[in-house]
Amino acid sequence: MALNYSNKINRIRTFALSLIFIGFGVMYIGIWLKEIEWLMVIFFILGMLCIVFSTVVYFWIGMLSTRAVQIVCPSCEKPTKMLGRVDACMHCKQPLTLDQNLAGKDFDEKYNSKKYKGSTTLDEK
Ligand SMILES: [Zn+2]
Repeated sequence: MALNYSNKINRIRTFALSLIFIGFGVMYIGIWLKEIEWLMVIFFILGMLCIVFSTVVYFWIGMLSTRAVQIVCPSCEKPTKMLGRVDACMHCKQPLTLDQNLAGKDFDEKYNSKKYKGSTTLDEK
């Protein structure tokens, strides 16, 4: 199962977490540059923006999680959450689908796009 795809909620979470680290990193650079005051201020504002944005992303994950479908993974038997028509298990990256028509087919991100017109088991608004 060498699937180069991970669970969407996990991916967004990783993204939000890395934003916090980037934010602190940028502010740290700002401290180095404290001789040049305006540059330090710019780096601090940039760092702050990263952290604020990450908070927004975390909030967004919370919203997404309420819409996500909770299922038990057939492969590792742990509860996982999936978004969209196809997603991967949070624990073992087993490809999952809610659409009977897609069961057994090769995993493809395109099934999540609105352009793909299959049956509408889980259409996003
Ligand atoms: Zn699993």
